[in-house]
Amino acid sequence: MNNIAVIGSGTMGNGIAHVFAQYGYKVSLIDVQQNALEKAIATISRNFDRQISKGTLTEEDKSMALGRIQTFTSLEVGVKNSDLVIEAATENLSVKLDLFRQLDEICKENAILATNTSSISITKIAAVTSRPDKVIGMHFMNPVPVMKLVEVIKGYATSDEVTSKIMVLSTKLEKVPVEVNDYPGFVANRILMPMINEAIYTLFEGVAGIEEIDTVMKLGMAHPMGPLQLADFIGLDVCLSILRVLFDGFGNPKYAPCPLLVNMVEAGFKGVKSGEGFYKYTPGVKDFMISPQFKK
Ligand code: NAD
Repeated sequence: MNNIAVIGSGTMGNGIAHVFAQYGYKVSLIDVQQNALEKAIATISRNFDRQISKGTLTEEDKSMALGRIQTFTSLEVGVKNSDLVIEAATENLSVKLDLFRQLDEICKENAILATNTSSISITKIAAVTSRPDKVIGMHFMNPVPVMKLVEVIKGYATSDEVTSKIMVLSTKLEKVPVEVNDYPGFVANRILMPMINEAIYTLFEGVAGIEEIDTVMKLGMAHPMGPLQLADFIGLDVCLSILRVLFDGFGNPKYAPCPLLVNMVEAGFKGVKSGEGFYKYTPGVKDFMISPQFKK
């Protein structure tokens, strides 16, 4: 596998493109929005600069890696020579099903179709293609260039051969792949999202404030970031949609999203991406304070 296509150039797509290009793969980065592609290349360039300043990459490595990334707004042109497609578009079932129907038509017969979905069933996505044995979950963590884990999710029909190819490929990117089966939330979000939801309920019920909840989890449990701030980084809309997948998938009320989370998303308070969630980020992610909405 040498030609990789990444669909969606947002938070995750630009990170995935960054890592593949850094390790020598040719990358087609595809998005429906030209400005998202431009923003992604600027972000990748800045993130390479960070690696250069830490001494883990040289200027030459950066320019070679950037030279391996081509951007496209046409899906058809972008994926036609790809050996592996990694879909990292918006977390929305109909967007993903529509993309996989098209990919199945356009891509080479032996191309592997992976999705970076946080929670949507791999089996359901695979079922709209004529190659369910070649559809797999490749769930990178945010920020992709930094985080070591890749959760490799085997759908009901994914072949062992494809699973083992993706496990090996992940190690070539110096990641640590973990193979899991396809059930709602897989492993990462089945455990993480109820914790985040419980932190939001703890705030909603007035047990403690934002700073107190995050401090308890950082200092008491050695988490590098409190659950409320982590939710802001993931995106409150993304957290809500994952909780809904868990709730629908298991039919268990313990996964019901906290009404405060629902209200915040409906009001457009989505965390870092919208500038405000539990914290207010001005102007970037480094400067933040408790959102004025929660000031006592
Ligand atoms: P994002 O909103 O930052 O970016 C999504 C991008 O997809 C946008 O640029 C949008 O224009 C593009 N897009 C939408 N429809 C498209 C289409 N049909 N064709 C091409 N591009 C399209 O989202 P994100 O946070 O990068 O999440 C992407 C995926 O990764 C989701 O499935 C999400 O669940 C998953 N994920 C997110 C995180 C996280 O921390 N944000 C972590 C792991 C996995």
